[in-house]
Amino acid sequence: MRLIRPHGGTLINREVTGLEREALIQASVDLPKLYLNNREISDLELIATGAFSPLEGFLCEADYRSVRANMRLADGVAWPIPVTLSVTDEEATGLREGEDVALYQGRDHLLGILHLTEKYRYDKQREAELVYRTTEEAHPGVRALYSQGEWLLGGRISLINRQLDVNFPAYRRDPAETRSLFRQRGWRRVVAFQTRNPVHRAHEYIQKCALEIADGLLLHPLVGETKSDDIPAEVRIKSYETVLANYYPSTRTILSVMPAAMRYAGPREAVFHALIRKNYGCSHFIVGRDHAGVGNYYGTYDAHYIFDEFEPEELGLTPLFFDHTFFCKSCGAMASSKTCPHLSSERVTLSGTRVRELLRAGTLPPVEFSRPEVAKVLIDAHRGEPNEQPQAAGV
Ligand SMILES: [Zn+2]
Repeated sequence: MRLIRPHGGTLINREVTGLEREALIQASVDLPKLYLNNREISDLELIATGAFSPLEGFLCEADYRSVRANMRLADGVAWPIPVTLSVTDEEATGLREGEDVALYQGRDHLLGILHLTEKYRYDKQREAELVYRTTEEAHPGVRALYSQGEWLLGGRISLINRQLDVNFPAYRRDPAETRSLFRQRGWRRVVAFQTRNPVHRAHEYIQKCALEIADGLLLHPLVGETKSDDIPAEVRIKSYETVLANYYPSTRTILSVMPAAMRYAGPREAVFHALIRKNYGCSHFIVGRDHAGVGNYYGTYDAHYIFDEFEPEELGLTPLFFDHTFFCKSCGAMASSKTCPHLSSERVTLSGTRVRELLRAGTLPPVEFSRPEVAKVLIDAHRGEPNEQPQAAGV
């Protein structure tokens, strides 16, 4: 029984151990230091554990330009999102190509080493246009990009220590671990569901449709850095535990967390999320409406169309596209605009704003919309939070 191969063919492992690790720790004392932000810390770990295979480090210029313009690395392998490490002019002055740089979390937790191959300047506006399809600073991904330093550092990395203070350690599994778990269970076709929202009936329906054609489901919520108005990861995890315990077969479902940061790059990030899950051992990936979107920057199904810009063999895994789903009173079942012929008045749909109003008032939404067990978790989380917050879009 073979699982899908990692992207690029080999699961990258840049975590050093034993004598090599000891030697790098010793050497790090005399190296220039960089203090990473949350996204860079999670990127570093995702590179090291192979979640970003075939990347072995932060992008050098040829790969960066190629990814930005063509959604492919310089050697042609599909890769839609620049994974970069930026520094200011001042920091760049002290760094020399061909030398090592020590990477830190906070002031004194050594994470690893960047073997600096290249430092180069880059065009942020161009990256915003091509990757985020907007140059507006109101877009959270663009805002983060504009706040970066003026230089990028490229080169392979070595991970010495894992990051401190991780959330949900019990649900953290590296790609090698999820792969081994799938093998133990005898799963070959595994479908991954990316989410940064609670699982309501519509999501449950999509996941179960996918599970009908797969051996197992990996519910893989993103718990890296998100916008401050997204639902906190603690609440979401509680809601997943509840819905899984009550409505999913435990032999066919695994909950594990994905520690990447959100970029909100919409379509490109959908492809990115898919390739990451391929590295975790998933053969299928669910793409819903407005995947990884924010505000009105992307069309509802742009994240579906972008997959047509790749040959199937370039991606390797199978994307599963889903329309808007809902409970239809005439069908007497969950359905979508693809499967239900009835008027929209028959559909039980609620806006995000309306759902939050209900939850804040302590009222359960209709059971056709949300499982009561899940709604109760959200009601508890909304207590003592009177003001309406901006709507979080997408999955
Ligand atoms: Zn219907």
